[in-house]
Amino acid sequence: MRPFVYTALPARVVFGFGTIAQVADEVRGLGCRRALVLSTSPQRGEAERLAAQLGELAAGVFDGAVMHTPVEVTNEAMRRVGDLDADCTIALGGGSTIGLGKAIALRTDLPQIVIPTTYAGSEATTMLGETEGGRKTTQRTSKVLPEVIVYDVDLTLTLPRGLSATSGVNAIAHAVEALYVQDANPVISLLAEEGIAALARALPRIARDPLDREARSDALYGAWACGTCMGAVGVALHHKLCHVLGGSFDLPHAETHTVVLPHAVAYNAPAAPEAMARVARALGTRNAAQGLFELAREIGAPRSLREIGMPEDGLDRAADLAVASPYWNPRPIEREGIRSLLQAAFDGASPHTPALPTSPAETTHA
Ligand code: NAD
Repeated sequence: MRPFVYTALPARVVFGFGTIAQVADEVRGLGCRRALVLSTSPQRGEAERLAAQLGELAAGVFDGAVMHTPVEVTNEAMRRVGDLDADCTIALGGGSTIGLGKAIALRTDLPQIVIPTTYAGSEATTMLGETEGGRKTTQRTSKVLPEVIVYDVDLTLTLPRGLSATSGVNAIAHAVEALYVQDANPVISLLAEEGIAALARALPRIARDPLDREARSDALYGAWACGTCMGAVGVALHHKLCHVLGGSFDLPHAETHTVVLPHAVAYNAPAAPEAMARVARALGTRNAAQGLFELAREIGAPRSLREIGMPEDGLDRAADLAVASPYWNPRPIEREGIRSLLQAAFDGASPHTPALPTSPAETTHA
């Protein structure tokens, strides 16, 4: 066994069907009496049903959550917190709504209950990305870690086929990178393999029948496992590329993860053979990168950056940005290799391992 350091994050997790009925007890368990329920505007109906169910424990509903946590929206929500004298928040939704709850917690220390309805995994991390003046900045702080996560499988039945597929692969990406990051550790690696396997089993079944409750349950369980991995350890090349593509080219979050993952994995494969073997085993395949590429095909997810809006003339700039301030990565970040990875992802080509650099001057050791 290699030496390791493992820091477990505190978490209370309630998982099951119909668990939304337990939210009132969780509010009381936190010693709170006036919860502000957060949602996006399309999920306002669910948020209002929850508020009605909570009765006096609900102070109100704020349905302004949007992608990338803009500070103007947070400021508006903060005014509602003040006006309603809220003493906790309940974020019902995906990463966008959970991001808003975290942004409020950062400013107020109000306790958070989160009810995730996608597979993005933000509920289990200390990470918060916020946008101001069109610029997104990300920070890690334990102040934003939710106190309670309530997973209610029933709420995920309405997640559309497309988002179910891409959000599921977004979760898988967290676990894949957890297996080869610098601070990988045996506990999280176990969870990573478990999470990838659960999602790889569930996503094809959901693609065939989004109302398959057992598959939905496996997928949400996998999402919890994968999100916990990202919360506990760092991320590497794959997440860096997705941050560049999302941040500088405004590409959609979960779709970008889905397209890039097989290519980032192919790039890293020679430097992380043990991790690759575990990913392949979890997918039930022989080659991790190829297995992820095939999974995307099977679940009808996009496989090219072209089809999700990337301009081809942006590939050079994306490669420059990815190389300029890289995250730690098991394989050195090398400009030509990254450029060819991005081209393959743009074209939707089968993932391949780019050749090693020809001159040391081209290599950036992250
Ligand atoms: P999202 O929260 O933006 O949701 C997308 C849309 O789907 C929204 O309109 C939402 O209302 C709707 N939706 C969500 N669940 C639904 C359901 N069950 N049924 C019907 N509609 C539903 O999407 P996301 O991919 O979950 O989150 C993306 C955002 O989260 C990005 O901004 C990303 O940066 C952030 N994120 C942050 C972390 C972190 O650790 N900080 C981790 C992952 C993602």
